[in-house]
Amino acid sequence: MTPQIAKAKMIACACLLLPLLLKEQAHIQLPNLICRPRELIPRVTCDICSSALFSSCWFCSLCGRELCEDCHCDMLTTQTAKCSSLNGIHVLLPVTRFKNDEVINAIVKMELILKGDKTPQEDNEV
Ligand SMILES: [Zn+2]
Ligand SMILES: [Zn+2]
Repeated sequence: MTPQIAKAKMIACACLLLPLLLKEQAHIQLPNLICRPRELIPRVTCDICSSALFSSCWFCSLCGRELCEDCHCDMLTTQTAKCSSLNGIHVLLPVTRFKNDEVINAIVKMELILKGDKTPQEDNEV
């Protein structure tokens, strides 16, 4: 892989990931945050729509299901409790698999990549 291709890939990844990480940065400031370790096998999925869970996840304290951001928003806007057949109050708690420091570091690096500057990693390699 040439340096130009590597740089193009880093820019493409940063374009996709930066908005998600900026959202996650706000998400992990929410009260009652649940911190979970990252599981790669099996891959964690939303218990409603089965999409892969990466960031901005929610845990239902009533039924124990884990939801993606889209399903969480659906529940808030439609006021329907899709995550359980029970008629209880679904208290959704924010979940993260990131540490605050790694989110901040990744955001800084991605912003540098998108600005066209050298990443801190590139500086170390010189
Ligand atoms: Zn979902
Ligand atoms: Zn529930």
